[in-house]
Amino acid sequence: MESTAVLVAGAGPVGTVAACALAALGVEVLLCEAGADCAQDLRASTFHPPTLEMLDQLDIVRFVIERGLKAPVYQYRDRHSGERIEFDLSELCDRTRFPFRVQCEQHILARALARRLDRQANASVLFNHRVTMIEQSDESVTVALETPNAMERISARYVIDAEGANSIIRKWLGVAFEGFTWPEKFLCLSTSFDLQRHIPDLALVNYISDPDQWLVLLRTPRVWRILLPAGEETSDSELLSDQFKQQFFDSLVGDPAVATAHRTVYRVHQRVVARMAHGRVFLVGDAAHLNNPLGGFGMNSGIHDVWNLHGKIAHCLKHGHDAALFERFDRQRRKVTNDLIQTQTIRNKEMMEQKGDAEAHRRRFEEMRAINGNDARRYDFLLRQSMFHGLENASGVS
Ligand SMILES: Cc1cc2nc3c(=O)[nH]c(=O)nc-3n(C[C@H](O)[C@H](O)[C@H](O)COP(=O)(O)OP(=O)(O)OC[C@H]3O[C@@H](n4cnc5c(N)ncnc54)[C@H](O)[C@@H]3O)c2cc1C
Repeated sequence: MESTAVLVAGAGPVGTVAACALAALGVEVLLCEAGADCAQDLRASTFHPPTLEMLDQLDIVRFVIERGLKAPVYQYRDRHSGERIEFDLSELCDRTRFPFRVQCEQHILARALARRLDRQANASVLFNHRVTMIEQSDESVTVALETPNAMERISARYVIDAEGANSIIRKWLGVAFEGFTWPEKFLCLSTSFDLQRHIPDLALVNYISDPDQWLVLLRTPRVWRILLPAGEETSDSELLSDQFKQQFFDSLVGDPAVATAHRTVYRVHQRVVARMAHGRVFLVGDAAHLNNPLGGFGMNSGIHDVWNLHGKIAHCLKHGHDAALFERFDRQRRKVTNDLIQTQTIRNKEMMEQKGDAEAHRRRFEEMRAINGNDARRYDFLLRQSMFHGLENASGVS
């Protein structure tokens, strides 16, 4: 049976960052991906400043910035009154070399890292290799893989599970994935139509609140992405229909003929695993936690998971297994996930909607205005929404 020091399952943004970070420390790493390439779906597009700092250490941040858009300003807007409250990350310039968000599709990062890994002597990438089973002993983990032509087995000293929401490894471990699924669905549309010409003063990132139908409008280099909620009573085929699209753009910009490049319906969950560290197997990214996309925390927090983990694995490969290190990883990352990421994304969603309650919506908006008008509260808000608080919170957990 072939063997490797670390097997990473899943070549999404989290798995590719994990593999590259380990390879950069000289660790032998094998990245196994079920698909024929890194998935090219329309999901994360926001990279927050602490994540950019991590990508800088992997020498890939310039690539991401060049292929993305720098967005220092994001905006909360009342859909009816048009009132805007703007937050400017440039205020964090005393805190980070990257006082902005970068809007860049996640697959651009994943593909670039996978290509880079394949050129490194201590790393390999195997596409069309789907993990189907794991078994671990005190010394190693055996991973069974399905390829187009065969079933294979590989032995690894450690395994990082970055398979995403439907992780097979999580199922083999039998670990609880508790939380809930939002009753409404989220529809994601993308269009090259110039929304900035029709909606005055849009930033590149806009959270547009409304008690009836909130929206997120995000600019990426190629398209505008639009995220909106839809009731569970509306079928996926209705949401994806031309008729729905026409009505939506008619109400947004007065033009039903706007063309879309993609339309996708998502179900959204708030879930966290009961444990992230299981002996020599670690759950990270969407395999370990899911949250709604408001604020852009999912991929970023997954990258923060592997940033916490990779040095500990490299240390143990050199000096011998130390379960206490992985206990700490587990405590730190689950605390951030439960206390900050879950709480903040739920709050971010509440801020946008207020389910038909116009008075509650008005109060929330007033609260945002108050935060924005106070220097200390605004600075704190910027730190929290750009995920610095989460990382500080983790470093305080022994
Ligand atoms: C509409 C939307 C917008 C979002 N926007 C943002 C955002 O702006 N910022 C942000 O931080 N997050 C955002 N997210 C969340 C983000 O997309 C996810 O958190 C992120 O993709 C998680 O990365 P991952 O690598 O853990 O998992 P994934 O991206 O799901 O990658 C998992 C990989 O594992 C592979 N795989 C699966 N099973 C196996 C197997 N058995 N064997 C081998 N390989 C396997 C898959 O093919 C895939 O390539 C958004 C999500 C949605 C739905």
